[in-house]
Amino acid sequence: MVLDKLGDSLKNTLKKLTGSYAIDEKVINEIVKDIQRALLQSDVNVKLVLELTKKIKERALNEKLPQGITKKEQIVNIVYDTLVEFLGGKGNRIDITKKPFKVMLVGLFGNGKTTTVGKLANYYKKRGNSVALISTDTWRPAAFTQLQQLGKQIDVPVFGDPSLKDPAEIYNKFKAELEKHDLIFIDTAGRDALNDELIDELNSINTTVAPDETLLVMGADVGQAAKTQAEKFNDTCNVTGVIITKLDGTAKGGGALTACSITKAPVKFIGIGEKTDDFEEFKAEGFVGRLLGMGDLEALLEKAKLAIDMSEEDANAMKDKMLKGEFSLLDLYSQMESIGKMGSMKKIMSMIPGMGNMGISDSMLDVSQDKMKSWKHLMNSMTKAELENPDILTGSRVKRIAAGSGLDETDLRALIKQYKQSKKMMKMMKGNMSEKGMQKMMQKMQSGKLGGKKKILR
Ligand code: GDP
Ligand code: MG
Repeated sequence: MVLDKLGDSLKNTLKKLTGSYAIDEKVINEIVKDIQRALLQSDVNVKLVLELTKKIKERALNEKLPQGITKKEQIVNIVYDTLVEFLGGKGNRIDITKKPFKVMLVGLFGNGKTTTVGKLANYYKKRGNSVALISTDTWRPAAFTQLQQLGKQIDVPVFGDPSLKDPAEIYNKFKAELEKHDLIFIDTAGRDALNDELIDELNSINTTVAPDETLLVMGADVGQAAKTQAEKFNDTCNVTGVIITKLDGTAKGGGALTACSITKAPVKFIGIGEKTDDFEEFKAEGFVGRLLGMGDLEALLEKAKLAIDMSEEDANAMKDKMLKGEFSLLDLYSQMESIGKMGSMKKIMSMIPGMGNMGISDSMLDVSQDKMKSWKHLMNSMTKAELENPDILTGSRVKRIAAGSGLDETDLRALIKQYKQSKKMMKMMKGNMSEKGMQKMMQKMQSGKLGGKKKILR
């Protein structure tokens, strides 16, 4: 996991809470010192660290204890809240508001722009968008070839012309082709530093392309200098977001992450390896949740989304349905199918707060190929109304469907049973995600019962 050393220190610190009888000012001071040390070790700016820990301390000492939770839980919550806020809070995602949507990547040499263009293309392609790439890097030899290779890996068209020297000219040459796609990613050239030449070049591409988003790509090793770099690039080309790459290679990524979150250009994605899939949307809540070792429903849903390659809209609709406890047989099918791709259902259950020890039967957790195949046959023999509302399945309907599918009535009854159980489970899950559910989850976390999630989460 990214920043696992920081995560370990923070988790150990919070464990101290569980180990102490009474939580007084002394304990709080100790915890705050520990948090300071952990953050400084991951290269977070001293001033920021002091500000952050001061906030935690003040809230821990002064805030009234909300009803129904313990002081320990309150403090864990405060630490969580404060860290989330310092990492940019909510709402950093890119809103694709029009078509074509143009995203330009800028940054200095070797920070991972070209690699990241490939990662972004892969990310959005998997979410159902048609994507095209263009290289405007006329500076580095073989820049175009590098991008072509990436494009080939993920089956996305790549445009460029190494015989041309002017980036704006290259873009204009392929403009019409590019604009047939939902999303266009523009790779640009870097320099060792943001010199006049690069500024002129970026200005010119910026005017020609008129990007909807301009993302600055920086390696985590820039550390706290990320802030100045983001501000400088912002002056040239109105940076709308930052991508921090190479977070896998350093224990000190906290510097770059926190530095950017306080600029106007928040971190939107992180790179965590050289491969195309080593890439995540950066969401402060999920990130901090994982640092502190809490169950993370968002991350689970994100995995589900990837596993079945569904579009953002479908995934959101599914999430809503799941949370409302309203879903059809088809939903159950795609849900089980994605779970099969994600890994064992048991592990997944352990990630969902409150689901770990509900006593669900093993047959319900089975997502074997055979089972999925027989479900498919059964569903093919059902009418739309039956699929949407299996409650209407009377005896004669069951007979008809079983006969039509070549399967036994018991197979169909097992499917209906699973459907009903899942529906109930979804309702419970909804209940568990309420504030009360969060509390339960925290209790479990502190008693160490919420295990098994590490293998699924990065
Ligand atoms: P550019 O000059 O900004 O286009 O940078 P490149 O995309 O060519 O990347 C420079 C080097 O950094 C390459 O060796 C990449 O494989 C590597 N790289 C990029 N992103 C990551 C990352 O998230 N993690 C790691 N470990 N390496 C990365
Ligand atoms: Mg490059």
